[in-house]
Amino acid sequence: MKTILFNLTDSELAQFLVDMGQPRFRAKQIRDWMMRGCPCFSLMKNIPADLREKLDAVAQTLPVKIVKKLESSDGETTKFLLELNDCEQIECVLMRTSYGNSVCVSSQAGCAMGCKFCASTLLGVKRNLTINEIFAQILVAQWQLRNDKFSDKPIRPNGDANNDDVSHIVIMGTGEPLQNTENVIGFMERANSEMGIGWRRITLSTCGIVPGIYRLIEWGRPINLAISLHAPTDELRRQIMPINNKYKLTDVLSAADEFTNTHNRQLMVEYILLGRRNENGETELYNCTPEHAEQLSSLLHGKNCMVNLIPWNAVDERDFAAPSGNAIHRFQDILIKNGIHTRIRRERGADVGSACGQLRLNNNKM
Ligand code: SAH
Repeated sequence: MKTILFNLTDSELAQFLVDMGQPRFRAKQIRDWMMRGCPCFSLMKNIPADLREKLDAVAQTLPVKIVKKLESSDGETTKFLLELNDCEQIECVLMRTSYGNSVCVSSQAGCAMGCKFCASTLLGVKRNLTINEIFAQILVAQWQLRNDKFSDKPIRPNGDANNDDVSHIVIMGTGEPLQNTENVIGFMERANSEMGIGWRRITLSTCGIVPGIYRLIEWGRPINLAISLHAPTDELRRQIMPINNKYKLTDVLSAADEFTNTHNRQLMVEYILLGRRNENGETELYNCTPEHAEQLSSLLHGKNCMVNLIPWNAVDERDFAAPSGNAIHRFQDILIKNGIHTRIRRERGADVGSACGQLRLNNNKM
């Protein structure tokens, strides 16, 4: 099996090269390339061609390989299907937005949470990702951004001088980050210290693992916390999110409150709008009737939070339907009337199967 150079420490990397009869300074050159996300030795221009070939035979750069890359038609979203060394696959998504370049990373191969609307969890969880495997996802995106400059892509909306860097991270890809808490924390520490990504530009989304939220409080960094709520009562939430049998809404929200109060941050609440088809083929609202909007308003009353309303991204295997635009706006209007901050999340990359585990799932079906 090839040695993954990214996984070596600086001194291990230097020794690896010395063993190949090379000077130690090659280690720094190769590390610099890897930190820019360089996927293969043949692109490392300051390394002699014969060494590049030798390295290629015995080593690989990053602990992930790109299996598939899909670009949305508007050029704003790139979705990557990546393969890990044990052939597990994960997804990450680069989103070029008006506020910067955001990367959505996976924290696990698969997911154990069993949410009824989600594609990521259909095949269960395979394993936790290592710190390096999570970190490599932002490097893949970083490499893409640098190379955009040389492509015929349209000028991106954030046309400032630093627009070829990753500026934001959302831990919202496949997996439950608070089931892999220590590696996710290790990853955030490295993204901050090695890539200069500010704490306030990192968002971690959880389905509500209460001890994990307290661990984040103890850790003490002022990142953004997002809670996947998706229902305003325990009764309804239990139906679609099995984790609610373990941690009740009030416990999740009080842990989240403690987190946001500690850091004086606004809590992000994720709320997917779900419908169901009845026998007549009409879509009935599942979690987003006017009554649900009132219940959600009471639940969140007085909290410093922002509710992101997310139109459900269709997953073939799942028995839901997306509600109409009108129903979504009616739901939002009630929240607004009740003084709750809310916005409708723009769908990104729907045309590249960017929704939550779809790419990995579909590749598995082939
Ligand atoms: N496990 C974490 C993070 C990964 S899921 C969590 O639950 O927050 C990221 C977000 O996408 C969650 O809010 C999740 O509920 C949502 N999601 C999952 N499947 C979706 C779908 N088909 N359409 C829209 N959002 C979805």
